[in-house]
Amino acid sequence: MICAKFSERISKSTKSIISFCGNKFHTEGALIFARKKMGNWEEEKEKYLKMNAEAKRKDCVKLQSIPTWKSLSDSIKLPEPIEMKENCAINISKNEILAEKISIFEGDITTLGIDAIVNAANSTLMGGGGVDGVIHRAAGPSLKEECSTLGGCPTGAAKITGGYKLPARYVIHTVGPQGEQTEKLKKCYRNSLDILIEKKLRTIAFPCISTGIYGYPNLPAAHAAAYQVRKFLEDNTDKVDRVIFCLFLDEDKKIYKGILQSYFPISH
Ligand code: ADP
Repeated sequence: MICAKFSERISKSTKSIISFCGNKFHTEGALIFARKKMGNWEEEKEKYLKMNAEAKRKDCVKLQSIPTWKSLSDSIKLPEPIEMKENCAINISKNEILAEKISIFEGDITTLGIDAIVNAANSTLMGGGGVDGVIHRAAGPSLKEECSTLGGCPTGAAKITGGYKLPARYVIHTVGPQGEQTEKLKKCYRNSLDILIEKKLRTIAFPCISTGIYGYPNLPAAHAAAYQVRKFLEDNTDKVDRVIFCLFLDEDKKIYKGILQSYFPISH
């Protein structure tokens, strides 16, 4: 009876340690042992999920201060449009509603106080260079502890964890392809967005997945990202409030301002 109560309250991973300990330990002792072994990321996760973004980081960037693509393109002079690369299966028409559902944010993704930020992770999910390292450092060590329970992640797939000390509530980790592999990169965007919906979250920011250490050329990567986000938003308009393209490099800032005019056209 006591055993059953304890097992209801603890995670799958902790449970397996307890069952492994079997006869050797009293259940409560096993729980403490398991907690020590796993670290206390579960408690930390709960604690941070209850906090609002500003309590975690005073200078966090809130959604309200990020202009939508529609209001941005009404207020600045845009560079020349970049034509769509693919013969899209979707009908790219002017759609003001979708143009209000996306944004460009120029800066550090770890400052965003939104539902979820996406991490361009590697398949171990144990942290690395580039944006992955920045996200892990800002979230604190509990993120790595939770990641260590996930069993890695194949290319194109995505997995979710808590955001811990980050102002974002969650981190969705996806593993981009190394080099130009369009379908795999599109899957990263699609699978991350599917998780967002599954978890009933409404705001998400993507870095330019694969375009750093993984060497995917910036322009074709932006085409794949814009195409997949447009396609997803066509099918899930009411389930998402904002998809933010978080741009760190000047090259990407220029490319996205050109490309979004084709994938999210608006009338002026
Ligand atoms: P990958 O291994 O998938 O190529 P990288 O982290 O090397 O991932 O690069 C992905 C993109 O993230 C690059 O455009 C890089 O400039 C950008 N980037 C690096 N640091 C940050 C940050 N703090 N916020 C947002 N984007 C970042």
